[in-house]
Amino acid sequence: MMTNPPETIPVENDSDEVSCDGGNGSLGHPVVWYSFDGKNTVECLYCDRAFEKKSA
Ligand SMILES: [Zn+2]
Repeated sequence: MMTNPPETIPVENDSDEVSCDGGNGSLGHPVVWYSFDGKNTVECLYCDRAFEKKSA
């Protein structure tokens, strides 16, 4: 099984949550939503991608 380096996906600062479907290809997974819950980053448990709020 191949492992890809984790990606960091920028999201808008005012976002409360993000959705991830793993992107295209074999890494795809069912859509899941993550709440930032006061943090600046969340990591997808399925595909290890990180979502990071843009800093001003
Ligand atoms: Zn994902």
